[in-house]
Amino acid sequence: MKTVAIIGGGLGGLTAAITLASSGYHVKLFEKNSHFGGKMLAVDQEGYHFDFGPNTITLPHVFQNVLEKAGLNPNHYFTFEKLTHHTRNTFSDGLSFDLSSSESYMTNQLKQLDPKGAAKYKSFIKDIEKLYSLSNQHFFHRTFQSWRDYLSPQLGNALRKVKPTRTLHDFYEQYFQNPRIIQALDRYATYIGSNPYVAPATFAMIAYLELVDGVYYTKGGNTNIAKGFVHAAKDLGVELYANAKVRQLHVHQKQVEGVVLENGETIEADEVIINGDLLKAYPDLVSEEHRPHFSNQKVREFEPSISGFVILAGLEGRIPDLHHHHVFFSGNYKKEFKQIESGHYATEPTIYICTSSKVDPDVSPNGDNCFILVNAPPTSVGEDDDLDPEEYKQVIYDRLKSFGIDIQSKLKYEQVWTPEDIRDKFGAFRGSLYGPASNRKVDAFARPFNRSQDIQNLYFAGGSTHPGGGSPMVVLSGKNVAEAIVKKHGGG
Ligand SMILES: Cc1cc2nc3c(=O)[nH]c(=O)nc-3n(C[C@H](O)[C@H](O)[C@H](O)COP(=O)(O)OP(=O)(O)OC[C@H]3O[C@@H](n4cnc5c(N)ncnc54)[C@H](O)[C@@H]3O)c2cc1C
Repeated sequence: MKTVAIIGGGLGGLTAAITLASSGYHVKLFEKNSHFGGKMLAVDQEGYHFDFGPNTITLPHVFQNVLEKAGLNPNHYFTFEKLTHHTRNTFSDGLSFDLSSSESYMTNQLKQLDPKGAAKYKSFIKDIEKLYSLSNQHFFHRTFQSWRDYLSPQLGNALRKVKPTRTLHDFYEQYFQNPRIIQALDRYATYIGSNPYVAPATFAMIAYLELVDGVYYTKGGNTNIAKGFVHAAKDLGVELYANAKVRQLHVHQKQVEGVVLENGETIEADEVIINGDLLKAYPDLVSEEHRPHFSNQKVREFEPSISGFVILAGLEGRIPDLHHHHVFFSGNYKKEFKQIESGHYATEPTIYICTSSKVDPDVSPNGDNCFILVNAPPTSVGEDDDLDPEEYKQVIYDRLKSFGIDIQSKLKYEQVWTPEDIRDKFGAFRGSLYGPASNRKVDAFARPFNRSQDIQNLYFAGGSTHPGGGSPMVVLSGKNVAEAIVKKHGGG
C-alpha cells in the first residue's frame, strides 16, 4: 500500500486525504495547529459560536461529492440549507436592497431601483451562466502541472470567450445603471481577494453562484463542514496528527524522501502534498537549490490577495435590523480599493457582518454572534504594519453606529484578528485570505501549478494553487490532486 503524507489540514488537505484513503492509500496528515479545517475555524467562547473564515457557502454539491465519491453518505456528516434572499446591502443614504437567487424577486427590486437592470436581468443571468459553465467545463476539474496545460485548443478558446480584456466593474456596467447595484455586484471581486476595477470580467461567474445556484448555510455552523470532513477522514482510516508542524522536506534526486517534523521525527512517503499556502510553505520546507522553477525571487513577485481585519463580537441580546449576511457599503468604493492597494487601511471601510444566529439561534443562544470582516491590505514584507487594532476597531464600530447598528453597547465577548494574526495562525502568505491575487488578466488562470516542476512526488492543493481560493475551489483542488496521484499509479 502506498503512503501519502499531507502537510496541512485545511479543506484542501482534508479533501485529498478522504479521496486518497477511499482509493486504497495509507494517508498521514500533519497539521501545525491544534484544530483541523485551517481557515475554516470554529471559535466557541462564552456561549457564542463563530464561524471564522467561510461564512458564505456556495456550490454545496462540491463538498457533498467528496464524501459520495468516497462511498459515504454526506448527510451523515453535515447538511445544508439554502438562503434564498441571502444578502442585505445597506448604503450610507439609507437605501437597502437584497441579493437573492429568486429571479422574480430580483427583477421586482430592480424595477424600482434600476429599470435598465430589470430589463436586462435575464440576459445578465444568461451571460454569467455562460462564464460559469466555461470555467466548470475547462478549469475546475483538472490539475495544472505545467504551462503546456494551457495550450489545449479547448482551453484556449474558452479563455478567449470569457471576455478577458474587460474588468469586472465594466462588465456589470453593461447591464446596470444604478451605481449601488453595481457596487453590490462589484463586491464579488473580494471573494477572490481582488479589486473589481482591475479583476477580469471572468469572475462575474461568482455572481452566477450566488444569484442562480444560491448561498447556503450548514446547520450548527459552517465549520461543521470541516468537522464532518475530519470524521469522514477518520472513518476511512486517515491518520490525522494535530500540533504536528512539518519543518522540512528531505529532497534527494528530485524526490521527497522524508517529511521532517518539528520534533525531529522523519516520515517516509511515496507521495507528498503541501496544503499549506504554497507561497509560504514551499520555500520554508524545501531549500531553494531543489526548486529552480520556484525560486525565492519568483515567490516575491506574486501579488497576494487582500487580507482581512476581523472582529468576533458576541452580543447581549439581538439587533433586529441586522440580517444574516449584511453589508454596509462605503460611499466611495474606488477610493477604498485604492487605499488598500497602496498598503493602507480604508478610512471609510465597507463592512460585512455575518450573524448566523439569525437563522440558527441555537449556535448563540444568549445573543447575536457577529463575524465582522473588513478588507485589509496584505502584511508588508518587512516590518509589521503600525496599525493600532484598537483604533481601527473603533473606526468600524463608529461607522456601524452611523448606520444605526450599535455593537459596542451590547458587547459581551470580543476577539480581534489582524492580517498579521491570519498570516501567523494559518501560515498564509502575507496574511492573504485567498492566495495570490487574481487582478492581472493573466493571474485569473495562471496560479502556481498543482505539481512541483522540480520534485517528482510533490503536489500542491489549496487556495494558492488551481483552481483558486474560496472554500469550494479549495475542495476541488484537493480532489483534483488526489485523483492525479491515483491516476499516476494506474488507478482512477
Ligand atoms: C476571514 C476569512 C473569510 C473568508 N470567507 C470565505 C467565505 O465566506 N467563503 C469561502 O468560500 N471562503 C472564504 N474564505 C477562504 C477560505 O477560508 C479558504 O479559501 C480555505 O479555507 C482555504 O483552505 P486551504 O485548504 O487552502 O487551506 P488553509 O485553510 O489555509 O489550511 C492550510 C493549513 O496548513 C497548515 N500548515 C501550513 N504550514 C504547515 C506546516 N509546515 N506543517 C503543518 N501544517 C501546516 C496551516 O496551519 C493550515 O491549517 C475566507 C477566509 C478568511 C481567512
